[in-house]
Amino acid sequence: MTDVTHPYHALMEITSRPGQVFVRGEGSFLWDDTGKRYLDFIQGWAVNCLGHSPPAIAEAISAQARRLITPSPAYYNDTSLKLAKALTDMSCFDRVFFANSGAEANEGAIKLARKYGALRKDDAYEIITFEGGFHGRTLATMSASGKKAFEPLFEPKVSGFRKAQWNDLASVERLINDNTVAVMLEPIQGEAGVWPASDQFLRDLRELTTAHGLLLIFDEIQTGMGRTGKLFHYQHTGITPDIMTLGKGIGGGVPLAALLATEGVSCFEHGDQGGTFNGNALMCAAGLAVLEQVAAPKFLRTVTTNGLYLESELQRLSAHHGLGEVRGRGLLLALDLRVPIAPLIVAAALDDGVLLNAPRPDTLRFMPALNVTRQEIDLMIRCLDSLLNTAGIARRVA
Ligand code: PLP
Repeated sequence: MTDVTHPYHALMEITSRPGQVFVRGEGSFLWDDTGKRYLDFIQGWAVNCLGHSPPAIAEAISAQARRLITPSPAYYNDTSLKLAKALTDMSCFDRVFFANSGAEANEGAIKLARKYGALRKDDAYEIITFEGGFHGRTLATMSASGKKAFEPLFEPKVSGFRKAQWNDLASVERLINDNTVAVMLEPIQGEAGVWPASDQFLRDLRELTTAHGLLLIFDEIQTGMGRTGKLFHYQHTGITPDIMTLGKGIGGGVPLAALLATEGVSCFEHGDQGGTFNGNALMCAAGLAVLEQVAAPKFLRTVTTNGLYLESELQRLSAHHGLGEVRGRGLLLALDLRVPIAPLIVAAALDDGVLLNAPRPDTLRFMPALNVTRQEIDLMIRCLDSLLNTAGIARRVA
């Protein structure tokens, strides 16, 4: 972007973006400033769990804004107390710290684990994370991430993270030493291309961490809040982590995240953790509105059945076009295209009015609203099917 008079120029250039400027959203659809409509299977990066501008969130925020936005984090507010109580009632955790982004929640989890190590484990501070993992873009969370592209950036990194191999227990075991305090992972590696940890691997990790007195930290920023058909992904496995982070869907599109921990691990002392906007009533009102809908058993059952439907339709496409596997759980799915055409498909789909995401050149990721309908899934599948048939795409690949 060289035209300094162009309105885009006022924003820092941090990524390549298409030229569309979105002005309105409703459910699974977005409209740009020319009035063109788009079917959205990205939804703010797995954020808008109830779709765009859902009435429940709009009403909760506007009612809360008229009553109380924030009394400052130095005081309690009734809305954040209600949301913390609801989250602890519905999970295995006892305490919540609210944050404004996933990275901030993970930064809090890292600090809490280090505090635990300082107080209870002879100053142990190392955290084992995983190759391919993604935990955010603060310095510590980039250091915790196992994303290759981060490796040369912003040196020196925050030390104290050792990377194990995904779904490989022996590789974790090899990294454990007297300095280790925790193991941290996403139950499904989302940004890496939707690579699920097997339920058995998660159970084995729980056994291993317990045996060594280590904390188990689940980053459920992408998998939490109903995305995989349970309110939290760990509920698929029969085990419970010691710490969990939530982001993305918890606010349904507004900046809200959370760090949850069991009582025995909640060892922050005054002054260790905080932040001006943390737990503000306005965002917590959105969180309550989201939780009320997403936690309903019928809602979660529909996520599961629509997830299975999307998965089977993607498998049908894959078989028809000679593509690779379909991975993931619930409404967090990926299609392996086997060839690096994902960016071309994303660009062509955008022209056709469908928003898709390519976390890797050979992979498409699907993260629609959790209340997406079968008709909307069919519409996306028809678009993808016709793009895969397009001679133009085949020619460009060849
Ligand atoms: N952790 C996971 C698993 C994520 O997918 C993301 C974002 O994509 C983050 C952390 C960072 O969250 P945020 O972008 O809200 O800081």
